[in-house]
Amino acid sequence: MRQPFQLDAYQTRMSAQVVACEGQRLVLDSTLFYPRGGGQPGDRGWITAAGQRYEVVDTCYSDDRSCIEHHLAEAVTLTPGETIELELDWDRRHRHMRMHTCLHLLCHLIKDPVTGGNVGADQSRAEFDLTTPVDKLELEAQLNALIASGAEITTEWLPESILDEQPELVRTMSVQPPRGAGELRMVRVAGLDYQPCGGTHVRNIREIGQVRIPSIKSKGKQNKRINVALVD
Ligand SMILES: [Zn+2]
Repeated sequence: MRQPFQLDAYQTRMSAQVVACEGQRLVLDSTLFYPRGGGQPGDRGWITAAGQRYEVVDTCYSDDRSCIEHHLAEAVTLTPGETIELELDWDRRHRHMRMHTCLHLLCHLIKDPVTGGNVGADQSRAEFDLTTPVDKLELEAQLNALIASGAEITTEWLPESILDEQPELVRTMSVQPPRGAGELRMVRVAGLDYQPCGGTHVRNIREIGQVRIPSIKSKGKQNKRINVALVD
């Protein structure tokens, strides 16, 4: 099932129905909270039930990935079928969207194999097996020029069998997209990057704003970790 956060990353409020609630774990019939995955943290925010507001401190998939669990700051008793209101911690999520989209741009600028990535609200990292050295300041200038030039980001859904025909679509060597849903979410940064991705992105790369590259660290003979941070 396609979830609201996969269809519109800018939606910050919605109503949902309780499917299950056990202590601090809450499962809903649909959600706009992004569950931790693909290197992007789970969303935080609030739910309101019967006039009472509760904090959501994390969101993740259940162990068997059959449902999305909202982790509440305190144990709550909610009845299945009950309607509640969801409100996203938008400031934090929007920073994740800016940072996450920025990693797609690094994938465009560096064509070498991607070996890992992690998104944070202030700083993120992408790891590559570099075949040629990368200069920190040069890369930072290229990245900021690219962001300033702007490009739209769109999402499309393809049958997941496309990966059998075009395995090269997956840029991250260590992480294959989850299979079994029958369809694959593809993210296109117009003219720059096209790969399967379940994360949340800004609409136009200009929205990322200025970034800096605090460091490039060596993690192995060829493997380099590029740290990238939002300036504001
Ligand atoms: Zn993405």
